[in-house]
Amino acid sequence: GSLPSAEVVDDALSAAYARFRDDASGRVADYIPALAEADPSLFGLSVADVHGSVRQAGDASHPFSIQSISKAFVFALVDQALGRESVRRRVGVNNTGLPFNSILAIELNHGSPMNPMVNAGALATTSLVPGADAADRWDFVQQGLSRFAGRELKLDMRVYTSEAGSNQRNESIARLLDSYERLGWDPIQTTDVYTKQCSLSVTTRDLAIMGSTLAAGGVNPLTGDQVVDASVCRDTLAALATSGLYERSGDWLYEIGMPGKSGVSGGILTIAPGKGGLAAFSPGLDPAGNSIRGQRATHYLSGALGLNLFASA
Ligand code: GLU
Repeated sequence: GSLPSAEVVDDALSAAYARFRDDASGRVADYIPALAEADPSLFGLSVADVHGSVRQAGDASHPFSIQSISKAFVFALVDQALGRESVRRRVGVNNTGLPFNSILAIELNHGSPMNPMVNAGALATTSLVPGADAADRWDFVQQGLSRFAGRELKLDMRVYTSEAGSNQRNESIARLLDSYERLGWDPIQTTDVYTKQCSLSVTTRDLAIMGSTLAAGGVNPLTGDQVVDASVCRDTLAALATSGLYERSGDWLYEIGMPGKSGVSGGILTIAPGKGGLAAFSPGLDPAGNSIRGQRATHYLSGALGLNLFASA
């Protein structure tokens, strides 16, 4: 299968945009000071197929920090570098049922970070990034995510500085994991690389291409670069299906029927395996941290483009 024709995708994007353009529900994240300044009226949508065609609507060129969506791609790179069983054993692939930055989830599970899409598991994953020192490890992450996007992704320094200055909770999670011998590297340096990966600046266009690379067995449709193996894409999409939308991952799968990943700046990336990537951006969030308008627009697109993986026909 493949995505419907460009005309059908364009019509679906226009309809989704028109339907939700006045829906500014939700609350902008404010626990990271720089994110509190986001304009809640922003709304962008992009769809990229596995051949490199990108269609879009609204604020698809507006840059924002990737936040938690980075977790999916760092997981893929580490899965590629270390092997699936090693990462599964050290990080895990089960949902916590608890908020993304829960400390209780770690305690309830005897020190297990549980899955790569909550902060504990993402910190554990980032601690496994190969490299001799902090600069090498950051280079691995930045270059790897840039290969998924097909262009060099840059750090949003304002967001990075803001989060680095208010990062006590993530540092605490990393230290707690370290006390359980669950980290592969120093907890404070791990948290710093993690904070940088969350501060990479992207657009919905970038995210859609990153998603289409996962949909295409790891081959970036713009550059032809084999970023990771097809088996790594499969592992990553499975982890997203269980945990990509925090404790609302079950509702998401029930409604949309595809693996996705959200971030607290308002992005949501959804992958139609073998077909392409869909990205939405709007800063108003639900209480779990997922863009409300992004969820609604993706739900509409999943239906209009016939992408639900559980549909028989
Ligand atoms: N950098 C954010 C944090 O660690 C990412 C959270 C998210 O997008 O869920 O709190």
